[in-house]
Amino acid sequence: MNITSQKGDILKTEAEVRVVGIYEGEDWENSFIQRLGEETGGKLQINAKKKDFTGNAGQILSFPDLLIVGLGKSETLSTALREITGSVYSQLQSLPVTHVAFELFGEDDESFDPNQTAQLMTEALLLASYQFDTYKKPKQKNILEEIILIAEDGKDAIKAEKGIKKAKQIIDGVTVARDLVNTPAQDMNPIRLAQTAERIAKLGSHIRVRVYNREQIEKKNMNAFLAVAQGSDVEPRLIHLTYKPEKAKKSIAIVGKGITFDSGGLSLKPADSMQSMKCDMAGAASVLGLFVVLAKLEPNIEVHGIIAATENMPSGKAMRPGDVVRAANKKTIEILNTDAEGRLTLADALVYAQKQKVDTVIDLATLTGACVVTLGEEIAGVMSNNSDLAHKLIESATVVGEELWELPLFGRYAKLVESDIADLRNIATSRYGGTLTAGLFLKEFIEEGQKWAHIDIAGPAYAERPLSSYIGKGGTGYGVRTLVKWIESL
Ligand SMILES: [Zn+2]
Repeated sequence: MNITSQKGDILKTEAEVRVVGIYEGEDWENSFIQRLGEETGGKLQINAKKKDFTGNAGQILSFPDLLIVGLGKSETLSTALREITGSVYSQLQSLPVTHVAFELFGEDDESFDPNQTAQLMTEALLLASYQFDTYKKPKQKNILEEIILIAEDGKDAIKAEKGIKKAKQIIDGVTVARDLVNTPAQDMNPIRLAQTAERIAKLGSHIRVRVYNREQIEKKNMNAFLAVAQGSDVEPRLIHLTYKPEKAKKSIAIVGKGITFDSGGLSLKPADSMQSMKCDMAGAASVLGLFVVLAKLEPNIEVHGIIAATENMPSGKAMRPGDVVRAANKKTIEILNTDAEGRLTLADALVYAQKQKVDTVIDLATLTGACVVTLGEEIAGVMSNNSDLAHKLIESATVVGEELWELPLFGRYAKLVESDIADLRNIATSRYGGTLTAGLFLKEFIEEGQKWAHIDIAGPAYAERPLSSYIGKGGTGYGVRTLVKWIESL
């Protein structure tokens, strides 16, 4: 699907369908709506009344070659723009059309930003058109070939091109993340994940990758990570991508949980809970997706992407409940539940990340079911030792429409992850507050003074039902857009 922008009059534009917006409470006597009325052969008013169309955000009135969409109030348009565009896209999918022209919504507004508007609309269109068709021909093929965003003003059209280009670059990364999550674990194991990282490294001249095998990981004393890996017949991989621009203002590390399949290990999951466990590498997928974007956007921030990739499987070689391992920072961990494996791999990955001497470390992990209990399926949780960092991340997430909310890292619960025979236990002594105790466990691997945030994406990383009008079922690529926005704010 090709998206471009062009100067013109939307009602005079040649297209199979033209999409125009009407605000809630807009004066229906104004000249544009009068023209719209003529275009519909006088049916606009009648149909609007029949369908109760008032211009509410996302309402759609459909005519043979015209879709009229409600934009809501002008003050809320920018936040509703993706959702509105997604609704229009799904309506278009039900029509046999290949060429569509959209009015650049809100162009008459004082606060109108053509670049931003085009970016948001393009993001929603590209996200909505995502299909994972590796294993099955889609029932409904995307036949839309061309979308033109029409601006009345020539300067707006030129600025809109910039927004379109940027949206394409960002969504390319999100798409990579979604594909990785959706690919079954048999085809997306640690080796394949590492090969993907190697391919991504070739996309940009400032990107390097190092991949470590089991022996090399042993030399790094990452025994918590290795304990998880020992039950699997597939070799683990430590993946380290580096994006290093010529002049970097700051340096950051993003650690992604990379459990390519989580059976729970000997603490085996029930069958139902295991069905979607190919998604337990969604954090890693978002890190890889982010690097696809970095290759194109080239921000002046040094970024390390770190993934401790392994399966978590039961076998005669698997770690046992009660085993004690010594992580890379020398702390000992009593493993009491082998299904709390993510924090074991992250512990060593976080220690490794801090060796890169970066200003900020962020980890992204489908870590706890408790986070889904707390925040539901559409909101991720962030915990940080730096409230400014947490707020900046939440701000970035809000702007891109990925919901994120702060959870506390209160020290009083730290006692719940203390073990009788080791420094830590990998599962808390209380079954309550599981997201908080997981965060406190990870904090034990963060050095004093290191800025760090942990993002638990167990809810929104994988959608069991559509997440919005523009993000359907399956891998969502959650985090890629938030991280891009946050990196741009540094
Ligand atoms: Zn698990």
